Amino acid sequence: MATTTRRRPRRGSKGSNPDLSRTLTDCTRRGDAAAAIAAFDDAVSDPDAPARLAAHQYNQLLHLLATADRSSFPSAAAAARRVFAHMLQAGAPPSEATITSLARVTAAPDADNPASAADEAFELVATMREKHGLAPRLRSYSPVLAAFRRAGDASKAYAVEAHMAASGVSPEEPELAALLDISSTAGDADKVYEYMHKLRQTVDCVTEETAQVVEGWFSSDNAGVAGKAEWDAAQVKDAIVLNGGGCHRLGWLGTGPWTVQRVRAGADCQCAGCKCQLACVDIDMEETQRFADAVAALALERETKANFSQFQEWLEENKEYEAIVDGANIALYQQNFAEGGFSLTQLDAVITELRGRYHGKWPLVILHNKRIAKLMENSSNRHLIETWRANGALYTTPSGSNDDWYWLYAAIKLNCLLVTNDEMRDHIFELLGSSFFPKWKHRHRVKYTFNKGKAVLVMPPPYSSEIQESEVGSWHVPLEEKSGDERVRIWLCIGRTGTCKEPDEVPTTNGVVQEVPPNEESNGVQQSLQEDKAESITGKRKDRD
Ligand SMILES: [Zn+2]
Repeated sequence: MATTTRRRPRRGSKGSNPDLSRTLTDCTRRGDAAAAIAAFDDAVSDPDAPARLAAHQYNQLLHLLATADRSSFPSAAAAARRVFAHMLQAGAPPSEATITSLARVTAAPDADNPASAADEAFELVATMREKHGLAPRLRSYSPVLAAFRRAGDASKAYAVEAHMAASGVSPEEPELAALLDISSTAGDADKVYEYMHKLRQTVDCVTEETAQVVEGWFSSDNAGVAGKAEWDAAQVKDAIVLNGGGCHRLGWLGTGPWTVQRVRAGADCQCAGCKCQLACVDIDMEETQRFADAVAALALERETKANFSQFQEWLEENKEYEAIVDGANIALYQQNFAEGGFSLTQLDAVITELRGRYHGKWPLVILHNKRIAKLMENSSNRHLIETWRANGALYTTPSGSNDDWYWLYAAIKLNCLLVTNDEMRDHIFELLGSSFFPKWKHRHRVKYTFNKGKAVLVMPPPYSSEIQESEVGSWHVPLEEKSGDERVRIWLCIGRTGTCKEPDEVPTTNGVVQEVPPNEESNGVQQSLQEDKAESITGKRKDRD
């Protein structure tokens, strides 16, 4: 049996100091860094107390110093250095949180010498792996970047970004906004361009703070002189198609000052500022191809190989579809009542609706052959099936196959619409594990309902609320819209003063025809020109002083 004799902890033992713990917790609650440091100083000067605090106590202190109100405790950085030195001396192992707190407190905005404070913080983060075996996180780098932003040191900020990349840490919106601001202030047009694209790849829409940074750049004299007067329009268009419709990435186009407006998108999907058609951004062509290959590889593993290969070959010969139809999903929609069954009438209604939209063009229905034999017993069903077959609108998948692979592959491969209410969340789609699947689905999936026997198709959104770079070099940057109502979303419309683009007659992105604007869909025209009826909200170039 162990004895329970109460003993004072031995000097240097690992036991934490319970009085100090209570005080630290209390100080943390009150945000009182000064009292916490006083308690620390008492504890470490007490000959009867353990010389070493528990690692979590050091971290608690450092975190408090990093977050406390600096006006009430101006010597936080010096105190943090003292705590950290004690921690190392006592042999307590620092964690990533330790170094991050120390970097934060060192690089705080009130540092006496912002440039050297930023350097010191960067040194702490940059050497944490080598000195302590710790991997820096995004939160470790953020205060360092912010410090170089305040110090106005662009080259050091770029070095931080390079270090992040080498550590496998990706900047997020606040860091990219900082890098944009730093490069913008430094007048480094190439870097600003690079960060605009990194921002576009990282977020869909931006915060007000980021929007102001973007406006700051485009309102600057440096932005006005960045760019070129001439470019190869065909090359720019091709690049946009390859990139999925949202950007060309060929550098600043045009010359002269920019006009920055805050506008809304019109009901016609045009920017209210410059009348440019907003793009529906898709995954790029290379990603689409990789995606199709990945689906095919998985299908070939799981399906009877000869069957799926045969389908691939057949699809190569029959590429001209605008839409793929998940036949079973539609025929079984809301059929879970007593007399419910496999409703070809519903399928026919969807096909009719699609043909109405696409000038009579037939979609491709994927249907399992186990359904067909049974359906052919009924004469009206037989008539429908024969009509679809005669028009090349039906592919029946063989016995033992999972038709999900067939419709998914066809829609990706042909880069066209996919009509299904399937959310595509089951195991098949998990296997894809792809970062671009949600975006692809958002852009290609058509949902449906029925109203009095007529199919009502819910088309993909007509444009994407994402940062976009147009073929004339203008930019459109959507701001966050918490209401979820796209009609009230504010966009930054940014173009060279005096340039104006005529909208395309039939805008397409990555080969996919865009949705018909809501006020026009009844006439079956894919897209038509609209009178300008949108209006600018501010309509003014942002003044900067
Ligand atoms: Zn615009």
